[in-house]
Amino acid sequence: MRPELAALDASIEGEVIYPESPEYESVRRPAWTQYENVRPVAVVRCRTPTDVAGSLAVARRLDLEVAPRGGGHCFAGRSATGGLVIDLSPMSSVAESDGIATVGAGARLGEVDERLAKDALAIPAGSCPAVGIAGLTLGGGLGILGRTYGLTSDQLVQAQVVLAAGSWSVMSAERRGCSGRYAAPVRASSASSPASRSERCPLRT
Ligand SMILES: Cc1cc2nc3c(=O)[nH]c(=O)nc-3n(C[C@H](O)[C@H](O)[C@H](O)COP(=O)(O)OP(=O)(O)OC[C@H]3O[C@@H](n4cnc5c(N)ncnc54)[C@H](O)[C@@H]3O)c2cc1C
Repeated sequence: MRPELAALDASIEGEVIYPESPEYESVRRPAWTQYENVRPVAVVRCRTPTDVAGSLAVARRLDLEVAPRGGGHCFAGRSATGGLVIDLSPMSSVAESDGIATVGAGARLGEVDERLAKDALAIPAGSCPAVGIAGLTLGGGLGILGRTYGLTSDQLVQAQVVLAAGSWSVMSAERRGCSGRYAAPVRASSASSPASRSERCPLRT
């Protein structure tokens, strides 16, 4: 492993998976098999925003292309790269308070749905439980509740984002704009809405 990646591995709460790691073959692949032959220099399994910022700094130092990955279901293969995959799947927390769901960037639709179902709530989302909430929201997000509540992105209240320079910030309708060209959402809050069991059932496997 390159010394910069070894130093990153030692400094973060997550871990750096490199080609010699036993887990490499299982974690490097995105869900879409078309891109299964893309082999990253390393996959950083991030647990905190600091891990994401550290990964970006190392990628910049080594001049590596970065690909953030949530659920890995991008049809265009944008979460696969020969550079550094920033894997956010360990950041999969889901919490709800006063009708606002706060979701980590690594959560899958099934996990979000399961948690909100306990309070008879739902975020309008897609129909596949393994798709990542971050990628879905960044792309709009259309599903069975769309005609009633709109796109997943319509419900986004605010997002904590890591900027290219390594700082992080909370963005919302009141607080927009970032100075860097790159922002990786690591946690987002979305308004949730009442939903009956039948409206949620497409998310069951
Ligand atoms: C089987 C299947 C079913 C689907 N069903 C639906 C559906 O019902 N409705 C619908 O609207 N769409 C659907 N889609 C499309 C899906 O919403 C998109 O492919 C979405 O981008 C996948 O998100 P992901 O997090 O799983 O993928 P990823 O590949 O991890 O991410 C997708 C894109 O977002 C970027 N990204 C992910 N997380 C972050 C982050 N935290 N910060 C910055 N960039 C990030 C990635 O780099 C990549 O460019 C489906 C796709 C598949 C494969």
